[in-house]
Order: sequence, then C-alpha cells, then structure tokens
Amino acid sequence: MQRIDIDGVPVLTAPGPDRTTAALVFGVGLRDETFAGIEVTHLVEHLAMSALPKSHLRCNAVTDVDTTTFVATGRPAAVGAFLEGVCRALADLPTDRIDVEIGVLDAENCSTADSTLGALWAARFGLAGPGLVVADGPGREFLTEDVVRAHARRWFVRANAALWCRGPLPEGLRLPLPDGPRPERTTPESRPQTGPVWTVVPGSGVGLLLGATGPWDPALRLGVEVLLDRLRDTARHRRGISYSVDSVGLDLHAGHREVAVVVDARQGQESAVADLVWEQFVALGEAGPTAAELAHAVAGFEEELDADEQAVVEAELVDAAYCAVSGLPFRPVQDVVRAWRTTTAEDVAAALRAARGTVVLAVPEGVSYAGPGAPVERRTLCWVEPVLPDGETFRPPLAARVLGRAQGRTLVVGTTALAHRAADGDVHRIPWELLECAVPTEDGRGLLVVGRNLCTVPVHEDVFGRRAVAAVRARVPADRWVARPARRQEALVRAS
Ligand SMILES: [Zn+2]
Repeated sequence: MQRIDIDGVPVLTAPGPDRTTAALVFGVGLRDETFAGIEVTHLVEHLAMSALPKSHLRCNAVTDVDTTTFVATGRPAAVGAFLEGVCRALADLPTDRIDVEIGVLDAENCSTADSTLGALWAARFGLAGPGLVVADGPGREFLTEDVVRAHARRWFVRANAALWCRGPLPEGLRLPLPDGPRPERTTPESRPQTGPVWTVVPGSGVGLLLGATGPWDPALRLGVEVLLDRLRDTARHRRGISYSVDSVGLDLHAGHREVAVVVDARQGQESAVADLVWEQFVALGEAGPTAAELAHAVAGFEEELDADEQAVVEAELVDAAYCAVSGLPFRPVQDVVRAWRTTTAEDVAAALRAARGTVVLAVPEGVSYAGPGAPVERRTLCWVEPVLPDGETFRPPLAARVLGRAQGRTLVVGTTALAHRAADGDVHRIPWELLECAVPTEDGRGLLVVGRNLCTVPVHEDVFGRRAVAAVRARVPADRWVARPARRQEALVRAS
C-alpha cells in the first residue's frame, strides 16, 4: 500500500486489476448529526450523487454511523471523472433538489435497519452520537437548505477526506473539495452505570454491548470472536433458537471502543437467548476460552486472509482510509493477526471481566423477561422514575378529562427538570440541561420536548391548557427550538 497526497487529500493506493475501484471517504456519519438534523448526511450524499451526469459507471454512495463513502469501479478515466464530479457537487450542492431527494429518502426508508444495534448505542449514549441511530428525528421536512449547506460546509471538506484506490490511479486526478478546518468530532458521554444492566429495547433481537477504554487491546475482540462461536454452537446449532449471531465494533476515538454482539431470536425464545448470551459471556470471563477455542478463532482469521487476496487488499485500503479520516492509528492486518496469536486465554478472560461493568444486555420489547438475575440490574432505556418531581404542576382541564384526553396525565415544570406522568403511569423526566430540542406541533398550539436521555414530553393546549404550554415555552432557550421550515408551512396553508 502506498500513500500519496492529491489536492491535500491523503490517497492510499494498491495495485489491482485493469479496472479501477476507488472510494472517497469522509469522516462524517449519523453520529455527527443532531436529533433535529437526523439524516442530513444521507441527504448531502444523495444531493451530490444527483448532480453527477448520467453514466453507466458502476458507482454508489453509502452513509453509515461513522463515515460517508462515494465509490466507483470502471475505466480509470471514468472513475477519475466520477470522483472529481463528487468533489465539485459537494462544493456546490444542488439544493433546489432537496424536496425531490427527500422523497427518494422517504421511499428508501432504511431508518429502521439495525434497530437492536442502534438501541444498544442509545442505551450507552442517549440521543447523541451513535445513539441517534435509534431515532427518526422530527421529520425530513426539517432538513432545510440552510441546514444542508451548513452540514456540508463543516464536514465535506478536504481536511476530512481520504481516498483509496485499487488498480491504476486515474491520470491527472483532481479532488477539488472545499477548504475548511478539520472538523472536530465530539464523543458523547456514556450514561453512568455501576455494574451490568439489562434493558428493554425496540426491535426483535437480543444485544450485548461492551465498552472498552484505554489503548487498543486485541483481547476483547478475540474474546467476542470466541463468544460468537459459542453462541453459534449453542443458540443456533444445538438448540435452534437463533439464526444469526454477529458483532459490530465502533471506535468513538482511539481510546474508546464499543463492541456490540447482536443475536436474533426465534419468536418466543428471546428470554432463552438473552440468558444464554449473558451466561456464556460470564463463563468466558471466569474460565477464559479453551486452547482449542483460541486456536479456532485465530485460524478463522488466518483463513479469511488466505481465501481472497484481492478482498484483503481492499479491506486494508478501506481501513487505512477510515483511519486517516477518523484519526485512529492504522494497523496492518498482519500485525493484528500476530497480536491475536500471542494473546492468551487469561488475557481474553481479563478483558471480558474488565468490560463486565459496562455491559448493556438488551431484550426486545413485548417479551416477558425477568432479567438474568444479580448482579445485572434492570434499567429503562429512557429515564423512568416512580414519582413526579416538585414544580409547577398542570393537570388536564375538565374539558380534556371529559373528552377522555386526560388519562391520568400530569405535567410538572420544575426548576431543574420537566416531567410528565404518561397515561401508563410512568414518569419521564428531562433535566433542563439535557434538553435536546423542542419541536412545535403542526397546529402551533403545542410542542414536543425531546431529551438527550431519550425521554420525550408532549405538551399541548388541548391536554394541559394554554398556561402549561406557555410555562414550558418560557423554559426552552431560543437555540433549542426546531423551526418548522417555511415550505412546510406553505404546504399546510395550501392544504387548509
Ligand atoms: Zn422517558
């Protein structure tokens, strides 16, 4: 692999077939958005692709939690034209196409994918960073031209890009990206926990999230590999209660990793799968993997590297470009294999034990499950509490009670928090400092208050009266309001 520089963008190249495959990678994804701007990265990506001239080039673009990638395979000159076109489009997005591309996103509707994974991250980070994956946001109509342009200006700059290229590098390649400072990524705070917790989440799978801080250590990753193998053997092959067992690692920065294990469960077997995941995780931490299990995991890695040389080259290019944009140290795959070979069973056990206090075990909602028992504590995904805090209290007016809109609901506007007792009796509390945003209702007579702790509090004149709405409005700072876009209001006027 070679590294050069084109127009200030690091370019990683490796020899390959006559047809070139190249990808322009940006260090921006869903984790860099806000609740109000969910999917703005995806929209920028769509707008850039829509600006390219029609061609038969095999090309694609992908936005995920961490990165946005534009990739093409074909004759070197055509790939070069594609890359240059993407750069020019990002510098001046065709924002007149926003409505059309939002329609395309609506049709694509991929926001519910990976729901267990998103819920695990949300359990760790709330409605911030990777935790945003769990949410849909206030709606795509809130993605205005200003929001889209500001996002592109901040993140789609040469200082936040890297290119990888397998096969001939297009001759005279230019990457005319906008200038701008290297954007600084923030790492959201982890929700404090004093030991392992289990929680009920949307979705249908069972999940286990492990956090690790400190320098890179292959032991946790290797331990998770052995855990996956055990779960496949037991949950899938022996007991037939699960079909797919997978893991996803995410680096928040060089000193903080989250590793998620996601296991689907046959309907009715969710509790059994959750118990099995926890038991096997604990057992591996106590006794460590057997010598045979370790050897099997290392051999599996080696075989993967052996099977398809071209795929390995490409995977290394992808990883090197990812490291270049995210500021993580790049490790050649051969170094990783070597590290795996020298990792002992005791290293693996110690890494899993160290992660135990960070465990979030997630089970799908609608399942009757009592939890795996001590020391794993039950925790709600958002902040549910038994009683309302002190503060100005609003109950639905008589008219609402008569009309059946009250359902025992109560709103408390306190000095430290906003709280709402919902119809089911649960109290949801948003400390004012965790207020993410307030979204006005379409009729303008209420608002939805969204907390970074995943609580939402609906406040509407019809339910709590005008004084309650005014009291909450008065507590929302100006910069926390999500303005309904003008074109949306026009549409409402036309409709009425
Ligand atoms: Zn809540």
